[in-house]
Amino acid sequence: MATVSFWEREEFLHADVCIVGAGIIGLSLAAELLEMDQRLRIIVLERNTVPAGASTKNAGFACYGSPTELWRDVRTLGQDAVCHLVEQRKHGLERLRARLGDEAIGYERCGGYELLLGEHVAVMDYLDSLDQMLRPIFGSPYAYRADKRIAEFGFGSSVEHLIALPHEGRIHTGRMMHSLLRYVAERGGLVLTGSPVERIETHSNGADVLVMAPVGGELYFQARAVAVATNALAPRLADCIGARPGRGQVLLTEPLGDQLRWDGVFHFDEGYYYFRNVGTRILFGGGRNLDIEGETTDHFALTERIQAQLEDYLRTLIVPGTAVRIEQRWAGIMGFRTPPLPAVEWCNQRVLGVFGCNGMGVALGSLVAADAADKLAELLLRSR
Ligand SMILES: Cc1cc2nc3c(=O)[nH]c(=O)nc-3n(C[C@H](O)[C@H](O)[C@H](O)COP(=O)(O)OP(=O)(O)OC[C@H]3O[C@@H](n4cnc5c(N)ncnc54)[C@H](O)[C@@H]3O)c2cc1C
Repeated sequence: MATVSFWEREEFLHADVCIVGAGIIGLSLAAELLEMDQRLRIIVLERNTVPAGASTKNAGFACYGSPTELWRDVRTLGQDAVCHLVEQRKHGLERLRARLGDEAIGYERCGGYELLLGEHVAVMDYLDSLDQMLRPIFGSPYAYRADKRIAEFGFGSSVEHLIALPHEGRIHTGRMMHSLLRYVAERGGLVLTGSPVERIETHSNGADVLVMAPVGGELYFQARAVAVATNALAPRLADCIGARPGRGQVLLTEPLGDQLRWDGVFHFDEGYYYFRNVGTRILFGGGRNLDIEGETTDHFALTERIQAQLEDYLRTLIVPGTAVRIEQRWAGIMGFRTPPLPAVEWCNQRVLGVFGCNGMGVALGSLVAADAADKLAELLLRSR
């Protein structure tokens, strides 16, 4: 049984808003609320020592969607929904950059490319339509043909076309999360790590959030409202968010020095594969589509099959003829839902489910958080 002191109860265990999950959405939501009113008591509860979601494991692409991805989405979601989503990603990234500054997130507008191979070359027939659709959002071309660069970059012979995506960029994922944590703390938000939330009990004027603390066991936080920003794990605490997990596996090479002939962020196969340089290292991830069933998991593990495919593409497609050593590998867990659109929904009168990213949260996350902050602020005003 926990023995909670008077002091702990006074200073740590009650909040205006308790946010579960310290990923980009949870922390951006804390930032939004504190920007609205720095007197608000905001507590973010994170299960792990270092936030253990997608936000600390991702590839750091600040991207809007590659042509094969967006063309697939146009077919399933329709043109208006895709334009809206791209616009949201653009505004989300602008918000993140404005809040923290480019230096603090390691942002570089390095430009991106999509490699077309196999059946995906068909997207060339739709490139002009995609460009016309998205050009008004960017105010200049969304994409253009860059086939001449295939040889310049030294890609393998299976690459038939290269499409330049001039608006794409990248961030330093770790630095961005570190800066976001610092930003929230500097404005008085309390981020408590090592705090796995087990249950949320709602009552008429708030909610109690139960954490299993390593020392003392059950610990209840009282809040006027709770936001669940646990991404793939959202349904465990917020049943109005029907998300499912999708594991992403990544590898990182040793530095390649001047053997590396390109600079930027790259995608292929409807976004299922992505690579970029980190200095002269290559960060390469993806391959979830090789085993969708097996990768629909929140278990942090690597599989031989996907790692072997990544290595094969690395050696035959990305830097053919170059001897590369892999220095590090990791897995992270994304969240997906159908349709693949953000969802900010009240699960009951006090618990807001906040889900946004469907595997692409770097650009979108801050905007989803802003939407959630507006909804929470409205509730706090109403229930004063
Ligand atoms: C390998 C990989 C590569 C990716 N690459 C890119 C990319 O290049 N560009 C891009 O835009 N997106 C990318 N993504 C997706 C992007 O990282 C996510 O969309 C985004 O980080 C989601 O943010 P979030 O805040 O919703 O969730 P998360 O970052 O997953 O945060 C959820 C948090 O909730 C915590 N949590 C869960 N359950 C509990 C609980 N019960 N109690 C307390 N805390 C809990 C978790 O530990 C976690 O810290 C990638 C993802 C992966 C895995």
